[in-house]
Amino acid sequence: MESKIWLSSPHMSGNEQSYINNAFETNWIAPLGPHVNGFEDDIQSYLNDNIHVAALSSGTAAIHLGLILLGVKKGDEVICQSKTFSASANPILYLGATPIFVDSEEDTWNISPNQLELAIQDRIKKGKKPKAIIAVHLYGMPYKVDQINSIAAAYNIPVLEDSAEALGSTFKNKKCGTLGDISILSFNGNKIITTSGGGALITKNKTIKDKAVFFATQSRDKAVEYLHSKIGYNYRLSNVLAGIGRGQMEVLDKRVASRRKNYEFYKKNLNYIDNIIFKSEPEGMFSNRWLTTILTDSEETREGLRLELDKHNIESRPLWKPMHQQPIFKDYPKYINGVSDQLFKKGLCLPSGSNLTDNELDRVISIIKTYFRV
Ligand SMILES: *Cc1c(COP(=O)(O)O)cnc(C)c1O
Repeated sequence: MESKIWLSSPHMSGNEQSYINNAFETNWIAPLGPHVNGFEDDIQSYLNDNIHVAALSSGTAAIHLGLILLGVKKGDEVICQSKTFSASANPILYLGATPIFVDSEEDTWNISPNQLELAIQDRIKKGKKPKAIIAVHLYGMPYKVDQINSIAAAYNIPVLEDSAEALGSTFKNKKCGTLGDISILSFNGNKIITTSGGGALITKNKTIKDKAVFFATQSRDKAVEYLHSKIGYNYRLSNVLAGIGRGQMEVLDKRVASRRKNYEFYKKNLNYIDNIIFKSEPEGMFSNRWLTTILTDSEETREGLRLELDKHNIESRPLWKPMHQQPIFKDYPKYINGVSDQLFKKGLCLPSGSNLTDNELDRVISIIKTYFRV
């Protein structure tokens, strides 16, 4: 059997190890310590805005705390992009709130401004203004930030920017992760950089950051005894894992360059095949190309290609199955235009790791060419 080619595997720089050794030598083996603060500073200076960062145990934890900080409570409605990973939507249910799913548009595959406005108006007509909007930069491609933000502002609804897949992407030269009222990042093992598991909450408001850290460390009030007047969570990032993050931040720009190079390589070698479409970046958008995605002409083609790659020990994956099609979410209100259903049928994510070798990329290309007999 040929060696496995993964969709997106961790890619260490080597320097992570010295940060981890330092954590051991100084015995900071806890969900606090100098690497946690250092990692937050690294992210802050990378994003280069007037922002504050709370390093957390996962992107999901960051969304959960983000919604709490936006005031989402039991019985509230929260709008969520339907085409996304389930972690965008699950925290709505943790809070006993109701997800309202909104479909995508064709240019970026992200939340459709038209459908969003329609959904807001209809929810208001039905008696409840949504409490927050969760918008997602899928596969690193920014959503239509200007339009989404201006609709959100018109109805005075805050945006939670799910930038889990888009660290290193920009919209009109502004970094993704700084474009919402609250933003989140993920450092899960498959993301563009990883701490094995981890996440961050990002805000322009220092008080919000302090509150996020307070909630993430069991909501301990200022007192010598353990005193609690709010529900607490154990969501802070470990100092050991933050050390991995510090090593990864040093090479983030290189990782973005490698992922973009993968995309260009696939495009150059496969674009001439009639059954395959590559999506270019709309004006003003810069994608980190976390995953290279293609559209085929039908569900049969997509699935046939996926199985063929799998037969050769190459991992590929259909685009995210929309939340409104998921058993756990299918009965919630939805504003659907067919775009995400079509994308799910025809789309495929190709191996996209920044550590793929030329030889591995050639293997993928050659299977795809053989499959299409070109
Ligand atoms: C990975 C991911 C998350 C969740 O992040 P974790 O760190 O795995 O909890 C949320 N949203 C999207 C779009 C993701 O891809």
